[in-house]
Amino acid sequence: MPLKQYHAKRNFAKSPEPKGDESKALRRKKTRTLFFCVQKHLASHLHYDLRLEHGGVLMSWAVPKGPSLDPKVKRFAAQVEDHPLEYGSFEGVIPEGYGAGVVMLWDSGTWTPESPDVDAALAKGDLKFTLDGYKLKGSWVLVRTRGYTRPGEKPTGPSWLLIKHKDEWSGDLDITEFAPLSVKSGDDFPAIMAAQDPDLWLTNRRAAGGATGVMLQGIIEQAAELKLAELQKQTTPPGRRARKTKV
Ligand code: MN
Repeated sequence: MPLKQYHAKRNFAKSPEPKGDESKALRRKKTRTLFFCVQKHLASHLHYDLRLEHGGVLMSWAVPKGPSLDPKVKRFAAQVEDHPLEYGSFEGVIPEGYGAGVVMLWDSGTWTPESPDVDAALAKGDLKFTLDGYKLKGSWVLVRTRGYTRPGEKPTGPSWLLIKHKDEWSGDLDITEFAPLSVKSGDDFPAIMAAQDPDLWLTNRRAAGGATGVMLQGIIEQAAELKLAELQKQTTPPGRRARKTKV
């Protein structure tokens, strides 16, 4: 049941995203450590998806500006549909449809709720937790706000604020600038894209407009250069360029 919305939004014949096995999700409920990840997602807008394992699924929040280590900075976080646990290792290109764009596994690790009853904390709209990732560590809080919908806009999920608590892991380092790459592959967006079939790039470009379209175009061009360099390496016999002609 919790993945109903996730499945409704996607066509798995066209998307490489994991479908998710709910029976597996239920079995995993009994494990002790809880998984978390942050996926950097260039879709219609660049954002960071924070996902916390709870009840056999990944509860998810889209954070447009990404997490901040500065306790004075409150980052808007829109709660979105739960994702399957398998999604937590996903990195790649979503060719078309919902979420079309590029996904990078930006951080992953484990999380620990700071109060024993997570459901009660969620219901209260005040979830305090500790992260132990590669990039994000220490104490954080998600606080639900009233949320709003502009006239004519579709109602979105609940709005929250993601805030770092002051501890030895807080500070004014801009973590998204400082550590921009994937924790899975070490790649940036162009390299993630270059690893995929170039046919996907074109469908992808059609899906995006505006500033994101321009950003995506730049990424596609860099990906094409990477691909070309790789092809040249393959077609050049080893050592040929280095060898000096003897007369
Ligand atoms: Mn997303």
